[in-house]
Amino acid sequence: MASTAQRNVLVTGGNRGIGLAIARAFAAGGDNVVITNRSGEAPEGLRAVRCEVTDSASVDQAFTDAEELLGGPVEVLVANAGITRDTLLMRMSDEDFDTVLDTNLAGAFRCARRAATGMIRRRHGRIIFISSVVGLYGSPGQTNYAASKSGLVGLARSITRELGGRGITANVVAPGFIETDMTAALPEAQQKAYLASIPAGRFGRTEEVADVVRYLASDAAAYVSGAVIPVDGGLGMGH
Ligand code: NDP
Repeated sequence: MASTAQRNVLVTGGNRGIGLAIARAFAAGGDNVVITNRSGEAPEGLRAVRCEVTDSASVDQAFTDAEELLGGPVEVLVANAGITRDTLLMRMSDEDFDTVLDTNLAGAFRCARRAATGMIRRRHGRIIFISSVVGLYGSPGQTNYAASKSGLVGLARSITRELGGRGITANVVAPGFIETDMTAALPEAQQKAYLASIPAGRFGRTEEVADVVRYLASDAAAYVSGAVIPVDGGLGMGH
């Protein structure tokens, strides 16, 4: 891992699963880390602020609170908070679709917009969106989720074009099947089907996603922007 000075890092949804592993990895590397969740309760050894990503005022307040804890603006944003509401297309309600888009895509947009203010001023910043292999691979029963996750690619690439000249990078990490609460909730048959199609022959670990996120936040990745980096054991074949 490339060496980096201590940075102010905000990880949305950093209280559990992939987000928690990312937050712990940054903290272990010596960075200043604040996580968000909806309760505001902090996991052991980390600081937390309350944030509802579907609400712009809540996002704004969360950044203000985080900046106070961090003692300065957020330099690395990891937009990780996300949900699923899986069901087949014909059964999917407007609410199932809208809620997932509002959380996963618009929520990431709200956080990136708020983070950009401080990053533009400092002429430095790293924005990392946690997408999913299904964003570009597709997945039956996940039209809402896949649409939200592929939307993050357009978001990151447009930010790259808008703000690339100001020392800001925006990238997408696309995890495959990672062992977390979210995937434990999937039906066993679906878990088996995924396993059979993963070239690596196993599910991923949250730490494996965190390693790639830390790379994208490092000085070594200063010239990487608008990229989609899979962490999926080969499932999406690099997209
Ligand atoms: P978890 O379900 O374990 O955690 C989800 C996190 O998102 C929680 O911290 C939750 O906060 C937060 N969150 C959800 N809705 C909101 C909201 N409206 N406002 C604020 N925070 C919210 O998820 P994972 O760790 O499994 O996934 C993390 C990310 O990685 C997601 O974006 C997911 O789509 C993506 N991903 C996961 C994969 C996997 O295999 N697990 C594969 C590919 C992508 P709270 O605790 O308050 O509910």
